[in-house]
Amino acid sequence: MDGAAPARPILDVAGLVRAGLADPSDRAALEQVAETFRIRITPEMLGAMQPGLDAQFVPDPRELTVRPEELADPIGDAVHARGALTHRYRDRVILHATQSCEVYCRFCFRRETVGDAGVLAETAFAEALAYLAGQPQIREVIFTGGDPLTLSPRRLGDWLTRLSALPNIDVIRFHSRVPVVAPERISPELLAVLDLPQAVFVVLHVNHPAELTPAARAALRRLSQAGVALLSQTVLLKGVNADPDTLEALFRGLIRARVKPYYLHHCDLARGTSHFRTTIAEGQAIMASLRGRLSGIAQPTYVLDIPGGHGKVPIGPGYLLQTAPGEWQVTDPGGQPHLYRDPA
Ligand SMILES: *Cc1c(COP(=O)(O)O)cnc(C)c1O
Ligand code: SF4
Repeated sequence: MDGAAPARPILDVAGLVRAGLADPSDRAALEQVAETFRIRITPEMLGAMQPGLDAQFVPDPRELTVRPEELADPIGDAVHARGALTHRYRDRVILHATQSCEVYCRFCFRRETVGDAGVLAETAFAEALAYLAGQPQIREVIFTGGDPLTLSPRRLGDWLTRLSALPNIDVIRFHSRVPVVAPERISPELLAVLDLPQAVFVVLHVNHPAELTPAARAALRRLSQAGVALLSQTVLLKGVNADPDTLEALFRGLIRARVKPYYLHHCDLARGTSHFRTTIAEGQAIMASLRGRLSGIAQPTYVLDIPGGHGKVPIGPGYLLQTAPGEWQVTDPGGQPHLYRDPA
């Protein structure tokens, strides 16, 4: 890209070729990719384009390669579906508030459903509320999608007012890419509807330090000044961030913006994404190299969402080996082993 940031999002292969982001010789293959997995890149991300950032948004002919282990519903959302809700864990649910996003990420684990159905119907929201009211053990509602911060502040405000009236809800969480990919959406109107009696968390999906543009950092500042607690989730992606230096720069940039790195996700088995996927051993080696050199508050938990809907678990490097009953070999951040004995 050259010159000033573009004013409009790119939505198709022709736009990518015009912008110099796709090779004209790949055009036929990319048109075939776009039939299944849609394209959208915002002006903010077009203005920040660089290697590592582009691979997240610009389609690739390798997306046509579907490996046998890849799945249409890699984390098993459908297994625990209750209408618009996914209720996998006792105390919290996911609410699929919209299928729309500001960008369509090439590795998305919901790439088969995003972009399709638009905003959740009013009747479906009312059914979700009724379900939540009847399940007092549910303490937290997680708005996801698609991207829930693409909803208009008016609609979101209406839903949040009704949700926050339920006595069992302590925490309202949003999983969103909006503060980085479309920071102008973090408007005074949106901040006003996020001012709720409950604790409000935004978990920012961010993968590369170049996403933290000046406008993105300003949007994060507006959110934290409004009292919203900020966490991040990052997907470990080959060709984007799967090396210690890139992740260190990202996590340092996040804590500087008052965002606590929460999860580093092993790349899910979404169809046509094998060119992004590392092995678990590669992910563990990266996490181990970050352990000694990066502040503890900048360390996310490396997690795997077990295919089939069995939940997320930490899969980071192990530091502890049991050598006898009550006896442990503990590895320090430099890799040296030490003996630890439990009290007899
Ligand atoms: C990821 C996920 C959550 C949230 O899990 P946390 O570990 O609390 O971040 C909740 N429900 C479902 C179905 C999920 O996939
Ligand atoms: S913004 Fe989130 S839900 Fe939307 S395509 Fe990207 S990863 Fe998927």
